Amino acid sequence: MPPGDDLLEGSSPDESAPAAGNGRRSRRGLIIVNTGEGKGKTTAALGVIFRAWGRDFRVRMFQFIKHTTARFGEHRAARRLDIPIEALGDGFTWLSKDMDQTTALALAQWDRCKEAIVKGEDDIIVLDEFTYAMHYGWVPVSEVIDTLQRRPAPMHVIITGRYAPQELIDFADLVTEMRLIKHPYQEQGIKAQPGIEF
Ligand code: ATP
Ligand code: MG
Repeated sequence: MPPGDDLLEGSSPDESAPAAGNGRRSRRGLIIVNTGEGKGKTTAALGVIFRAWGRDFRVRMFQFIKHTTARFGEHRAARRLDIPIEALGDGFTWLSKDMDQTTALALAQWDRCKEAIVKGEDDIIVLDEFTYAMHYGWVPVSEVIDTLQRRPAPMHVIITGRYAPQELIDFADLVTEMRLIKHPYQEQGIKAQPGIEF
C-alpha cells in the first residue's frame, strides 16, 4: 500500500499532476543505511537512484570494492541514462592479495566522495559498499559523520554494505537491515547470474 497523502511531502505522487520539480527547497536530506547479510543493499540504493532520476534529481554513485573496470548491468544502464557511477576498487576485499592497495584505493575514493558531498551539487549520493572502509578501520566513522554533517541540508546520502558501524546507525535517519533467509548459492550452489547479481 502506498503511504497516505498526509505522509507524502513535496510533490504529488499523482501521475497526472504537473511536474513538481525536485523540491530542493522543501526537502529534508536523509542519511540512509542499507546493511545486513541479506541480498538487496546495493540494488535498493539503485532503486532509489532510478526513482529519483525520474524526478530529475541529480544522482551519483561512488562504488568502493567493485573493480574500476566493472561493467555490470547497472553500469551499462547508468551510462545510457547518463547517471554517473564511479567505481574505484580492486575487486573483493576479502580476496585481495594486496591489502595496502585496497586500502589506498578506498581512501582515494573516500577523498572523492568527501569533495562531492561538501561541494553539494548532487541531490542524492550513494556510497556503495562503503561500510567496509569503516568496518576495517581505513576511514574513521567520526570523519564520515563530520563530512555528512557538512553536506547541504537537502542532500540525501545512501550508504550500503554489511557491518555498518553502530555510530553510523545512530547518526542515520533511515536504516534497513537485509536479513538472509535463503540464498540460491547456499541452498543450491547456483552461481551469480547476469541481471540478478551483476
Ligand atoms: P545486491 O547488489 O544484489 O543488492 P547486496 O549489495 O546486498 O546485493 P552484498 O552483500 O554486497 O550484496 O554481496 C555481494 C554479492 O554477494 C551479491 O551479488 C549477493 O547475491 C552475493 N551474496 C550475498 N549473500 C550470499 C551468500 N550467502 N552466498 C553467496 N553469495 C551471496
Ligand atoms: Mg552490495
